[in-house]
Amino acid sequence: MQGRRMSADLEYDPDTGRPIPPVLRPPVPYECSAGATPCGAPARFFACGWRCRDHAPGAQTD
Ligand SMILES: [Zn+2]
Repeated sequence: MQGRRMSADLEYDPDTGRPIPPVLRPPVPYECSAGATPCGAPARFFACGWRCRDHAPGAQTD
C-alpha cells in the first residue's frame, strides 16, 4: 500500500487508544451486531463486523 496515507482520516478509540479504520468502525465494540436488532452477545471482530459465536461466519444454524 505504498503511496496511501491513512493517518489523516484515522480515529482512535478513546478507551483502547487503538486506531479505528473508518470503513470498519463498529457501532458497539465487543458486542454482536448481527441482525436488525443487534444480538448484543460477547463478540469478536470478523471481516463482516462484530459477531458472537452463534453469528460468526461459518457458524451452523439449526
Ligand atoms: Zn450474535
